[in-house]
Amino acid sequence: MPILIEHCYQKYFVRTYEYEVEGVRQPWKEVIEMTLKPKNQLMNFQPGQFVFVSFTDSQLVARESHPFSIVSAPKDGRLILTAKTLGDYTASLIKLKSGTTAKIEGAFGKFSYINFKNNDQI
Ligand SMILES: Cc1cc2nc3c(=O)[nH]c(=O)nc-3n(C[C@H](O)[C@H](O)[C@H](O)COP(=O)(O)OP(=O)(O)OC[C@H]3O[C@@H](n4cnc5c(N)ncnc54)[C@H](O)[C@@H]3O)c2cc1C
Repeated sequence: MPILIEHCYQKYFVRTYEYEVEGVRQPWKEVIEMTLKPKNQLMNFQPGQFVFVSFTDSQLVARESHPFSIVSAPKDGRLILTAKTLGDYTASLIKLKSGTTAKIEGAFGKFSYINFKNNDQI
């Protein structure tokens, strides 16, 4: 996408939030859990939604934007994302430092029990 169109698209159509890394841990050998706290505004989201995240001021993680599902609850006040280490990008996430800025785009997706009348069905 040309840079000008991408800039306009992000500015007018995609909601972007600034978070920062509060902590990173590896609860299991191929799983990395990132806890992010809002710098200003908390993003509204529903269980089951996902975001695109990019770490904009890290020297150790590429500034690419990747999608991850949200595993925390809306009332937690934190955004918790977990990544399975499959490729270069996800393997590098363990190097993130506390305080690194996270640009969050979203939330996207409708895969939530909230969107279905029958609570036993998603
Ligand atoms: C809506 C959505 C939500 C997601 N949520 C999560 C989540 O919560 N947790 C999570 O861990 N992941 C999630 N993912 C996947 C996650 O975004 C990717 O695993 C991550 O972006 C991979 O980045 P990478 O550079 O580390 O891996 P890549 O280098 O892109 O490679 C990932 C894997 O795919 C293989 N691969 C890459 N390209 C090809 C190809 N052309 N043909 C065949 N195989 C290929 C690689 O060998 C590797 O095993 C989600 C994806 C989407 C679309």
